[in-house]
Amino acid sequence: MADTISIVLPVFNEEAGIKTTIETLERYVSKQDENYELVFVDDGSKDESAKIIKFEIEKNDNIKLVEFSRNFGHQLAITAGLQYTKGDAVVVMDADLQDPPEVIPRMIEKWHEGYDIVYGKRKQRDGETFFKKFTSAMFYRTFKKLATIDMPLDTGDFRLMNRKAVQQMQRLHEQDPFVRGQVTWIGFKQTSVEYHRHERIAGETKYPLSKMIKLALDGITSFSMKPLQLANIFSALPLVGGLVYLIYLIATGGFTATTVGITLMLFSVGLVFLSMGIFGSYLGRVLDQVNDRPRFVVSETVGFDQRAKTIHH
Ligand code: UDP
Ligand code: MG
Repeated sequence: MADTISIVLPVFNEEAGIKTTIETLERYVSKQDENYELVFVDDGSKDESAKIIKFEIEKNDNIKLVEFSRNFGHQLAITAGLQYTKGDAVVVMDADLQDPPEVIPRMIEKWHEGYDIVYGKRKQRDGETFFKKFTSAMFYRTFKKLATIDMPLDTGDFRLMNRKAVQQMQRLHEQDPFVRGQVTWIGFKQTSVEYHRHERIAGETKYPLSKMIKLALDGITSFSMKPLQLANIFSALPLVGGLVYLIYLIATGGFTATTVGITLMLFSVGLVFLSMGIFGSYLGRVLDQVNDRPRFVVSETVGFDQRAKTIHH
């Protein structure tokens, strides 16, 4: 029997291009040997995205929609989408066609060769600002130095995972998941296919700087303890410095250097604050985890069979 491939597409305010995406994917799917389901996750769009998808569901029962009750973010939309798939393999891709469907057959080929996870490696990125490409390149290189996992450089969330990998992903219950890090973390046989990342077909990026920073911080704080260790070094610095200074003052008897004292104190206070900041970000994650809230709330599911009713978050 032919394989079933599930495609997970997170959607946030994509009304400008979502219809084109669906039509393009329908055209692509109709030419393939495999069976396909398209699982859209509407991440609290405030526009007509969900309505457009529901309209398409009427005509095509291979299209499904998971609708979030508000915007929970791209990473949680992917996490949720995975849970609603039934395919032998699952492909995650953006809903703006920046990840071209033509790459999927190459991913499937690698999967058939025996790889569990095939990630897309961006060889070239069109229509993205120098700032975005530069900060992204910097992030991946810094992450590599800090992290406990060996995440491949310059990969996004465009990838294929087989059922086994998806099942393992579902065992991870992080509040603020960094999906590409989690995928690396679960291990298995992984490989890449290179691809040319296109410009988005319509609309603007849904990843403002604030969301990019959150993603980078989630990535680092969930896969590296090094910044926390750095805080320890930082807090030791003023202490050791102060001690050395005290010994120096005792030795020379020069206890009148008030200005130097003030400068030192300012430095110490600055460093302590910095350390506290770093501690704070980790504590934030711990608190999130301890709270143990469901990570997202689904308000509605459309186009599923009984299976969806048995999913618990
Ligand atoms: N997205 C989402 N929730 C968000 C932000 C983005 O589901 O809070 C979706 C968006 O609709 C798109 C994908 O995530 O399908 C990637 O976002 P975008 O294309 O804006 O990011 P970029 O390609 O500019 O990095
Ligand atoms: Mg995009």
